[in-house]
Formats: sequence, C-alpha cells, structure tokens
Amino acid sequence: MKTELKIPNYIVSIDPYSPGKPLKELEREYGISDSIKLASNENPLGPSPKAVEAVKEALGQLNRYPDGRGYDLIRKISQSLEIGHENIVLGNGSDEIIGLLAKALLQVGDEVIVPWPSFLMYDIMVRSVGAIPAYVPLNDSLCIDLESIQNRITPKTRMVFLCNPNNPTGTIFSKADFEKFLENIPNIIVVVDEAYIEFVQDRTCAHGIDYLNSDIMVVTLRTFSKVYGLAGIRIGYGVMPQIIANLVNRIRPPFNANSLAQAAAKAALEDKEFFQKTMDLVKEGMSFLFDSLRRMGIEYFPSQANFFLINVKKNADEVFEKMLRQGVIVRSMKAYGYPEYIRINVGLPDENIRFIKALEKVI
Ligand SMILES: *Cc1c(COP(=O)(O)O)cnc(C)c1O
Repeated sequence: MKTELKIPNYIVSIDPYSPGKPLKELEREYGISDSIKLASNENPLGPSPKAVEAVKEALGQLNRYPDGRGYDLIRKISQSLEIGHENIVLGNGSDEIIGLLAKALLQVGDEVIVPWPSFLMYDIMVRSVGAIPAYVPLNDSLCIDLESIQNRITPKTRMVFLCNPNNPTGTIFSKADFEKFLENIPNIIVVVDEAYIEFVQDRTCAHGIDYLNSDIMVVTLRTFSKVYGLAGIRIGYGVMPQIIANLVNRIRPPFNANSLAQAAAKAALEDKEFFQKTMDLVKEGMSFLFDSLRRMGIEYFPSQANFFLINVKKNADEVFEKMLRQGVIVRSMKAYGYPEYIRINVGLPDENIRFIKALEKVI
C-alpha cells in the first residue's frame, strides 16, 4: 500500500529556493571551463586567511561537540558591537535565524510583511510555519518603502522583514526614516537583515542594533558569509531583545553553530587586514564596473552593497544563458520580478574586466 502523505497545504505551496548553481556543475553542463561566478554576492578574495588557519587548528578537536552556547564567539561579537552576550544567538548561517524566528514567534495564520523584491528566504520561512506573507513593493527608487509597510500593518500582522541594504537592489533606508517608522507602528517584531551592512558607505544608513532597547522589538541579522568570506562554513547571528533570544534558544538545535564555523568566525573578526582588503576591492571594482557600463550606455543601479542591478533591456534569462556560454555566471532577476535585469557582485579586477567584455558581446 502506498503511504498517503498528509502534509500541510502551506508546505506544498512553497516555491523551493533556487540558489545559483555551483561553478563545477555549470561548467560540466555547458562544457566550459575557467568560468567566473558573480551570482551569489560572495567574497571573491576567498576566505579570511586567519579564519583558514583557525579552522586548521580546530580540526584536531572534531571528535568533540561544539560549544553549544558559542561562548567565545558570542563574547567577541558582544565586545565589538558593545551589546550584551544575552542578546546574541548564533545560527548555521543567518538563514537559520530567519527560520528560528519564524518557528519561535509565529503561528498559523499570522501575517508577516515582506518587501518585494527582497531576499526570498523570508517568504519561505514565513510559509513554513503556516504564517502568511504580505508583500509590499519597493518604491520607484527601488528602496524598501517604510511608509507603505506601515500602512499595510493590520491587527493580524506579527512581524516585518526589512533588508538593509536590500538584496537584490542594494538600496538602504536611513536612520531618520527608520525612526519615524518605529514611532508609528504598533508593537510588532521588526527583523532587519543586515547581511551587507559592512559595505555601506552612506552615513545616514540605519543600523538595527542601535534600536535593540527601543519599545518596538527589533531583531538584527548579521552574517559571516559576505565581507568575511565564510559563506561555505555557515555562520551568522541575530541580535535581539533577551526575551526573544530566550524563546529562540528553546528551539535552537544546541549545536547549530559547528566548531569549525565558530573558530573561523572568531578569527575573521580579528582579521582587520582582510576586511579592509575586501572593502577596497569592492569599492574600486564597483567604480570600474560603473565607469565601464556608463561608457557602454547600459543602465545600472548604484548600490551600497557588494552587488548591483543592471538593466539589460533583454530577457534576463537569455542574457544569463549567453553570459554563461562566455564563462560568466550572473543572476537573472526574473524570479524577483525584474524580467530584464541581472544582478552581479563585484569580482576580482580581472573578473570584472571579463564580465564587461562578455556583456559587450552578449548585448
Ligand atoms: C547572503 C544573505 C544572507 C546570508 O545568509 P547566510 O545564511 O548567513 O549565508 C542573509 N540575507 C541576505 C539578504 C543575503 O543576501
């Protein structure tokens, strides 16, 4: 007899997240080699060398369970951000924290406001617990529209996700706008995903951590996957009021942040040289790419992150395919509601040159 799966409809209705394919798989599929990937906003310099050393050292302890409270790493983070250790929860990537927040704080039928387009994991995690995402489009400048979000709040709204800078647009919201927003909303939970906050140059940018003790409950998500170059080892964290941290910790798998990840993150936080090298690379690469695109008459959108959008004025999925044949992997924005935009992250200088040459051929 065949087993009849009795599963919740809200799970069946989730569109699976489609990550950019790994380099090797694409190369095999397309019979190309020596390709470059500018599709996942990763750090093109590689991982922090200090983190690599720390991982090597930690390998000898792999027989031991990790520190389930993440004591050393949390202490380091709490010192560098000047916040209490009780406000920090580590995750197997900040992705995991999104899921834990949904699981700990939402019930079936709760409404959660999600900007559109933004990071697709909010939608997936909200739906995974039977809560209902309510989309609020970005404004005409492709920024998260805090006023529209405020107007969209209903008595059923429990949580709002904000992404600052927003992925995929690279736009930010300011302290002033965020403060106005916090003053005008009822007490719902505001989650600010700051995966790219380190790259921001604009001094007016809001930082969620500044509002840790405000009346409205603000949760800030940070990650080691981007500027610290540790996407593969999976480590991120949330900064949240203690009352929320206590709830999340009840359901958090005790060893979710593995020992190598904790060692790597600790070392990466100390690797000021790598951090600065990454910042310089992104700044210089961005300005080279913008200059080149301007010269080619191609529209792009200035960004505060390590990635940006380009209006290719052609079917973005087709441009993705053609770029791939040139050995350059970009991200089509079709699934994000921009059928003629691609997103790329800044690469190494020679990767940026290759990208521009390939784009010139393709469009
Ligand atoms: C890359 C990214 C993350 C980081 O996810 P990890 O699970 O920490 O690797 C989170 N949010 C956004 C918007 C991102 O682009």
